Amino acid sequence: STVTTSITDTTQSIFLQQQPVKMLIGGQWVESASGKTFETLNPATGQVLANVAEGDAEDINRAVAAARKAFESGPWPKLTPSQRGRLLWKLSDLIEQNAEELALLETLDNGKPIKYSRAGDVPLTVDHFRYFAGWATKLEGETIPVSIPNMFTYTLREPVGVVGQIIPWNFPLQMAAWKLAPALACGNTVVLKPAEQTPLTALRLGQLICEAGFPEGVVNIVPGFGETAGAALASHPDVDKVAFTGSTEVGKKILQASVNNLKRVTLELGGKSPNIIFPDADLKYAVRGAMNAIFFNQGQVCTAGSRLFVHKAVYEQVVSGLADYAGKMKIGEGIDPATDLGPLVSQEQLERVLGYIDSGKREGATATTGGARAEDERLKGYFVQPTVFDNVRDEMTIAREEIFGPVVVALPFEDVEEVAARANKSIYGLSAGVWTSDVKKAHKMAAALKAGVVWVNTYNQFDAAAPFGGYKQSGYGREMGQAVLESYTQTKTVWINLR
Ligand code: NAD
Repeated sequence: STVTTSITDTTQSIFLQQQPVKMLIGGQWVESASGKTFETLNPATGQVLANVAEGDAEDINRAVAAARKAFESGPWPKLTPSQRGRLLWKLSDLIEQNAEELALLETLDNGKPIKYSRAGDVPLTVDHFRYFAGWATKLEGETIPVSIPNMFTYTLREPVGVVGQIIPWNFPLQMAAWKLAPALACGNTVVLKPAEQTPLTALRLGQLICEAGFPEGVVNIVPGFGETAGAALASHPDVDKVAFTGSTEVGKKILQASVNNLKRVTLELGGKSPNIIFPDADLKYAVRGAMNAIFFNQGQVCTAGSRLFVHKAVYEQVVSGLADYAGKMKIGEGIDPATDLGPLVSQEQLERVLGYIDSGKREGATATTGGARAEDERLKGYFVQPTVFDNVRDEMTIAREEIFGPVVVALPFEDVEEVAARANKSIYGLSAGVWTSDVKKAHKMAAALKAGVVWVNTYNQFDAAAPFGGYKQSGYGREMGQAVLESYTQTKTVWINLR
């Protein structure tokens, strides 16, 4: 179909003018084996942004074969760690040089406010590749003091092999970086499948990967749908590991698909994170923090602080403060630099979130602010009003299930033990927030909360050096920091008889 969105900025039109946008297999930009394409939409307008080659099982086969060849016999396994590190560093420089174009593409494809693409998504991506560039030269084995005479025993850290990476649409570029950077630092080769809603920045990144000089087949990028391309990658017998970020439901399918060849699996899944405000907190910051925790990225964040527990003594004050903030947010197209809240990513997400809002009302909760689609002459895309629910019970659907939209439930509590128990009563355990001025309470809560990340007097902090991942059904394995290297390497023990 025709591309109807007018591109105002010329810097990124070069990329979008070459339609359909092709996929990267074995160092070549190719169409899908079937010749099929799919549309990616601008969620702010619902208009077609680009036509993209639609990968399927056949394309995954080609990409896995290219990755296998690059891993076994390409120049890649012969590169020194320093050379690998320098390629990653070069890539980070190229991302930085193309920052504005990437920020714009991210905003057009995902809908997120450009101020966040510019200040967050792109610079954090640059930082991620730089951080892991450093790790390439620091992967060490150990010498092992075994108790058998005349044996010299040591370990080697080796790459896992061909890695399949399946990523979501909420932070398309950053999710690609979180997956690619450590895999490449450790010497693996990759087949990456971006989300069908947001394939563009990953593909633009693919061009920069080629420009940086990575050997062909080291990174292959196959856009396509989950049930076809994604499922083919997850079940492929020649893929050694799959790293997945997305819903818990699909995460379980990934794990099932891994069984045929027992590939290694790491899963970064959903959440329903508690954000807990004690009466001794600095309330000005706590209220602002609660706002950012839920409304950042339209609430489409796996760590979104979507269960807001507020102590009874300050409950009214916090909820009305939050509603005030929500009411003042500027809703609009992401490309407007003044926008605070952009559209949701798709019609499907819009319906899903509105469905949850309806279920909240049906089950007896009250929307103190928001509670509907945001729609007028200007807002034609998938916009939802920032919504704060009051009169919520822990058992309600909106208090238990991940909504993945700008919707928070406020829940009053009375004491520390009670709130810790209620916060932990969830199938998820990705993250948690605590707001208090009492250092003892802060540490006690940090210990008591069953979550992979606890933020105290802050929220949604991420750094390439700090491990991130879930407890319970929020998944397993850690991304970022030294911790992620574990899942992209395997240990070989070597015994030498010195007698
Ligand atoms: P999803 O889990 O369906 O999609 C994530 C990725 O998995 C996409 O690339 C998709 O194409 C792929 N996929 C889907 N089905 C697959 C399959 N059977 N085999 C292999 N790959 C498959 O997530 P979604 O549908 O985009 O969003 C649904 C919900 O997922 C959201 O509402 C939210 O709750 C959750 N989600 C969580 C995160 C997170 O970071 N934890 C991110 C996005 C979405």
